[in-house]
Amino acid sequence: MARICLCLTGRTLARDQEILKKYEKQVDLAELRVDCLDPDERFLVRRFPEMVKVPVILTVRRKRDGGSFVDGEGARIILLSKGLAFAEADRRHNFAYVDLEEDLDVPSLEEAARAFGTRIIRSFHDFQGVEQNLAGRVRSLIHAGDEIIKAAVMPQSMADVVRVYEAARDLWNVEKIILCMGDYGSNTRILAELLGSHLTYTTVKGEPDIPPGAPGQLCPQELVDLYRFRSITPKTRIFGIVGFPLKVTSSPAFFNAVFTQRNIDAVYIPFPSDSLEFFMKLADIIGLESASVTIPYKEEILPYLKVRSEKVDFIKACNTIFRCPEGWKGANTDALGFSDVLLEFINKKNLKGQRVTIVGAGGAARAVAAEVYRLKGKALILNRTMFRARDLAARYRFAWAGLDERGVELIYNYSDIIIQTTSVGMEPDINADPLELYEFSGREAVMDLIYKPEITRLLSRAAQAGCPIRNGYDMFIRQAQYQYTQFFGEDFPVQLMSRISI
Ligand code: NAP
Repeated sequence: MARICLCLTGRTLARDQEILKKYEKQVDLAELRVDCLDPDERFLVRRFPEMVKVPVILTVRRKRDGGSFVDGEGARIILLSKGLAFAEADRRHNFAYVDLEEDLDVPSLEEAARAFGTRIIRSFHDFQGVEQNLAGRVRSLIHAGDEIIKAAVMPQSMADVVRVYEAARDLWNVEKIILCMGDYGSNTRILAELLGSHLTYTTVKGEPDIPPGAPGQLCPQELVDLYRFRSITPKTRIFGIVGFPLKVTSSPAFFNAVFTQRNIDAVYIPFPSDSLEFFMKLADIIGLESASVTIPYKEEILPYLKVRSEKVDFIKACNTIFRCPEGWKGANTDALGFSDVLLEFINKKNLKGQRVTIVGAGGAARAVAAEVYRLKGKALILNRTMFRARDLAARYRFAWAGLDERGVELIYNYSDIIIQTTSVGMEPDINADPLELYEFSGREAVMDLIYKPEITRLLSRAAQAGCPIRNGYDMFIRQAQYQYTQFFGEDFPVQLMSRISI
């Protein structure tokens, strides 16, 4: 089983000891980052393995490899030998591992390590991307059979991430740690077991004096509680969400909590991806079973589908994919998720006689427009890119205009209900308001599909004018419940909701 390592980046050994104590139950070992210690503490590192209960990796990371050590190789070698020197016959008091970079060729360090049972991690870090022949590079580092090879690379794209999984597959028989840093990389940290990694590194979050260990590291709670790392095995079913940049999503929190409650051997992972094509390749490599699809891929996903649900065919947007005998099948759960909540919000059974403004013409707007049409409402569609408003409106004989002064004037004729479907106002741009030119009368029912922040600027203005408002949270939950039905072929057990907090 891949183990969980906590990267210790405190300024003193005592602080590192304190931090480790806090996470003792969640981690299996720790990496003492000597480069982060105050200079006078660095010479005391030999004591550290005795101060803690878990095995420790000794690392003095140079700046160019993502650390903070700048005092030169001579000083670094002295620190490493101090850590390994005077090792006692009682191996529990020695460092369990020492991280030696690929170019650090100091036989005395290796001899000292081997003499007292300290395993060598032979590492390389690449912050520029992922080379074509990553597996070859890793193999070239195997000097001695007892070393663990570590490759930590910074993917610049989903294509790079795919290369890392392919390399890991080629290296199935090599004892290694292979991982992607940065935003694209968290899935490799969660799926360390699948990659055949000896361990996965984590960092501490929420401690102002403790810097992060490396870009993209998760904290132990996220890994253990949210992503259920301890129960991931080669049999674990993999689900996820693809989007870009995918900075805001509650889907992993929802589905992983459901898996825990239902005792389903599965994990749900975010896959930020700059390319849908390479995400689909990755899906095959890792055996992804089903996924949610979000901004900006709800329309781009259509050519990848071998089978489409009626809703996807009608709406021409898909937010849910899962495998069927013919290949990928697509469904759209935004549509019913939206209309269930809207009807409940306005306390009506349909939209007969209702004049509705839909702001936006992207993937979510497609589902909204289709439902407004199905429920017999009349709508105006406003969008920044006018031809998209025109094309969407034409399908249902709705009115359309640009998201500008002229378009906003038209809202006064479609103001029973206003539905905001753009990403404007979503975290982190919480001060943005796509309808800043519109003055609410107080009679409009206003729904914003965004749920982070809870109250967008637009909703806040509407509420101040006296309008009833609803954010996108209930719709998110409802569409996720419908996704569950698509994923598992059974109704969502609604009684679970009282035990799920996201
Ligand atoms: P999408 O397909 O990428 O569409 C984005 C929409 O936002 C387009 O209409 C786009 O206009 C508009 N837009 C983006 N940046 C803009 C800007 N700076 N100024 C004006 N308009 C801008 O995304 P989507 O999948 O439809 O998602 C849109 C929003 O709905 C997101 O916030 C998402 O979180 C939310 N959503 C919520 C739920 C839920 O369950 N609550 C479900 C689905 C979606 P252009 O055509 O001009 O680019």
